[in-house]
Amino acid sequence: MNEKGISEKELFAELGSFSNADTNFKKVFSSMCTIPHPVAVKAQQQFSLSNIGDPGLFRGTCEMETEVIKMAAGILNHPDSKSAFGHLTSGGTESNIEAVLHMKNRFSDFSPGSSPDSGSKLNLIVPKTAHFSFEKIANLLGIELKKADIDSSFRVIPESVESLIDKNTIGLIGIAGSTEFGECDPIEQLSEIAVKHNLPLHIDAAFGGFVYPFLNQSQSNYNTKFAFDLPGVTSVSLDPHKMGLSVIPSGILIFKDNSVLSSSLDKIKVKTPYLTSRYQSTLTGTRPGSSVAATYAVMKHLGVEGYQKNVAYCMDLVDHFQKELKKIGLKPCIPPAINIITVAVSSESDKFDKAAAHEKTEKIRSQLLEKYGWNVSATKTIPALRFVLMPHITKEDISELISDLKKELDK
Ligand code: PLP
Repeated sequence: MNEKGISEKELFAELGSFSNADTNFKKVFSSMCTIPHPVAVKAQQQFSLSNIGDPGLFRGTCEMETEVIKMAAGILNHPDSKSAFGHLTSGGTESNIEAVLHMKNRFSDFSPGSSPDSGSKLNLIVPKTAHFSFEKIANLLGIELKKADIDSSFRVIPESVESLIDKNTIGLIGIAGSTEFGECDPIEQLSEIAVKHNLPLHIDAAFGGFVYPFLNQSQSNYNTKFAFDLPGVTSVSLDPHKMGLSVIPSGILIFKDNSVLSSSLDKIKVKTPYLTSRYQSTLTGTRPGSSVAATYAVMKHLGVEGYQKNVAYCMDLVDHFQKELKKIGLKPCIPPAINIITVAVSSESDKFDKAAAHEKTEKIRSQLLEKYGWNVSATKTIPALRFVLMPHITKEDISELISDLKKELDK
C-alpha cells in the first residue's frame, strides 16, 4: 500500500479503468446473473452499513429478512409461510452447503452412536446434472456423492435415486432449473422416495426458484410441483441474485420448519459473546444487510406480476432464439423448459466421437468470443453450446449472435 493515499479524482479514474475491464452484460449469454433491478441497487446503497450478523443493531434489516423468507415461502407454495424457517445467504453454494450440513447432523440424530459401515463414508444422492457446488460440499463435509442417472431430457431417474439409497445415505437432492439445461427433476417422485425412506430432500432451485413459479403454462412444457406443497421436500434454495433481479450476493435458504432440522441447529449454534445476539447458527458471521434490503425491495416492488413479466420476457427470447436457429438449420438439443437453450454444433461425422464433438464445440465457443465478443458456454454432459437467455438480452442480440454463429459453422 502507498504511504500516502491518492486523491479521490485519481482513485475514481483508476476505478473507471477497472470497471471498463468488467462486462456490462452486453453480449453475455453464459451467466446466470444479470443486471440488478434499479430498486435493488438503490436499497443496497441505503443499507450499505447494515450487518445482519449482528441483529440487535439492525432490527429493521432483520424484519426485512423475516419478510423475505415469508414471501419466498409463499412463492414455494408453503402451506403456512409463517412456520417456514430460513435466512439469506451469499448464494446457491452457501445455501447448498448449509442444507447438506444439516442433513449430516440430522443423520447422527437418527442413528445415534452408529458410524457408517467400516470403510464407507456417509453419502448424499445427487442427480448427475447437479451443480459443482456439491463437489465442494462432499470435500468439505467428508461425504461421498452418489450420482443418480438421468434420462434423455437430462432429468434424474427416480428409480436410479432409490437404488442408490443405503444405510449411510444422509439425504437426497433434486434440482429445479439445472445449471446446464434448466430442467426440473421429477420432484413429486423424489418426494415420495424421501418420505418412504425418511430422508430429507433438498431442492436446489438456485436458478429455477425465480422462474418455475412464474411460468405461463402456455410458454413451457413444465407441469409439475417442486416445492413445499410436496410432503417430502424439507428445504429449498433459490437465488435472488440470479433470476430474482437482486444484487450480488443474495441467496435464500428455506426449511419447511425448524423441526425438520431435528437438533442440528443446536449442533451448529455457537455463543456470540460480543454481539447483540446470544447465538449464531448461520454459516457466515457478518452478513450483508444491504443484500437483504435489495432483495426485499425488488420482491416487494415487482410482486408476482412483475416476476411473471420478467419470465415471460425471457421465454419470448427463447421462442425468438428457436426461430433464428431454425433459419440456419439448427434446433435445441431438447425443447427448453425455461430460459436455457443447448444446441449441438458439431458435424454429423463427429456424432460417434464424443471427444471430437466436444473439441469442435469448444472451438466454436472460443471463436464466438475472440472474433465477435460473444460470451457463451459449452455443456459437459453432451457436446453442445449453452445459452442462458437472461433479462439483459434483447432479440436483436440474439439475431446478431446467430448470424455470427452461422459464419463460423459455414467455414
Ligand atoms: N445451484 C445451481 C443449480 C446453480 O446453477 C448454481 C450457479 O449457477 C449454484 C447452485 C451456485 O450458485 P452460486 O454461484 O450463487 O453460489
